[in-house]
Amino acid sequence: MDAEEREQARARARQETDHLTAEGVRGAALTWVDNAGLIRVKAVPTTRLPQAASRGVGMSPVFDVYLVDDSMTTSPHVGGPDGDLRLFPDLERLTVLAAQPGWAWAPVDRYDQQGRAHPVCQRLFARRMVERARERGLEPRMGFETEWVVAHAGGPEPAPDGASVPGPRRGAVGELGAEPRYAGTGPAYGMARVVELSDYLAGVLEALHAQRIDVLQIHPEYAPGQFEVSVAPADPVGAADLVVLVRETIRAVSARHGLAASFAPAIEVGSVGNGGHLHLSLWQEGRNLCRGGDGPYGMTAVCAAFLAGVLRELPALLAIGAPSPASYLRLEPSRWAGVFQCWGLENREAALRFVTGAPDDPGAANAEVKCFDAAANPYLVVGAVIAAGLAGVDAGLSLPAPVAGDPAQAGTEARLPTSLAEALDWFERSAVLREALGEPLFTSVAAVRRAEVALFEGATPEEIVSATRWRY
Ligand code: GLU
Ligand code: MG
Repeated sequence: MDAEEREQARARARQETDHLTAEGVRGAALTWVDNAGLIRVKAVPTTRLPQAASRGVGMSPVFDVYLVDDSMTTSPHVGGPDGDLRLFPDLERLTVLAAQPGWAWAPVDRYDQQGRAHPVCQRLFARRMVERARERGLEPRMGFETEWVVAHAGGPEPAPDGASVPGPRRGAVGELGAEPRYAGTGPAYGMARVVELSDYLAGVLEALHAQRIDVLQIHPEYAPGQFEVSVAPADPVGAADLVVLVRETIRAVSARHGLAASFAPAIEVGSVGNGGHLHLSLWQEGRNLCRGGDGPYGMTAVCAAFLAGVLRELPALLAIGAPSPASYLRLEPSRWAGVFQCWGLENREAALRFVTGAPDDPGAANAEVKCFDAAANPYLVVGAVIAAGLAGVDAGLSLPAPVAGDPAQAGTEARLPTSLAEALDWFERSAVLREALGEPLFTSVAAVRRAEVALFEGATPEEIVSATRWRY
């Protein structure tokens, strides 16, 4: 960032501050996502937004080696108590938070004291990969699905007559091991759940609408208390920002309804978990390359090569997209989580699902990466997927034959890694991801993964679930 850019940011922030103050906004929550996938924050009073925008807000670099339980590890480039970074809010994304009166939100990019890009900033990495695509005349568009489980946020069990019964708190979110007391207990995809949580779900829609988020769908999912919301595609960095905003909005609306939301990959051992599926399409000069070509199901050769690159890299990409030991409790066959390294048309058991969409909707054709979850840092996800796809384009890869039906039955397809340790092995051997992330970011991600493997060494699935259920 040079002096002129900083001055422009300050002037812009002054205007924003005036608007926000007039609207009663007192604080701005400035978020980033760490390598463990947790959304962390520094907040400033609205009146200090101009300083924040021009000089940044201080932050320790050590956050990049935080683990899911807030303990820390070290890596060759990051760790220890020294140093300071500057967080610069992206004012383009500044949003007044509908479910947190008095608050606004913006994501940050991270620079050092001299104004140089911080090599471990995941959002700047995502921007670099978008630029890399643009240099090849390609414009990826992406969107994350958000799945979450909603539970009563503790307190005494209500008695059948509505009076409260004194007794132990159950499902209190402050207790890591607390068992959820699910809200929305009707059948999977059941209208009964929408009736039961009518005000709550309307509240989610209202808050997202007030924040100008274009919601495509909201519906109950398979597991008890589970719901899903999907939003319109955006540029990749925008899609990552959006999923952060959607998640925190749902969390805030939940709290206002006495509920707690969990976005963790696994909520119960042996049950369906929360996915964080990524949809992507590839565009060139306003044309969707996922259709109108002579490749499989009408995709263009460039699209096929991009998807082949993603497919090839999936075992290593899992260390980015399924980053927790808990992720592998979700990644079981025949649960629509996509645990086989294959692709198929509309196949929900393939890790890569190609969707042609309605013929009269040019934007509809896209591919969905199903094996990822919401413990992932979405900036790392979009950047790493672009890097893998572009490597496929550069190598002129073509797709293998598509797979129909559940690969678990056929037994012919390769299973993706079944543990974080295995995914980490693939990641550490991935020349594509190492080059794209750059050494400081690559080694800090690897260090966090290795430390979380060690953290849960010998833990039972129940212990892993109970330690992670209320962390994401
Ligand atoms: N909840 C499933 C998962 O773990 C996905 C269900 C669906 O296909 O929407 O990814
Ligand atoms: Mg779903």
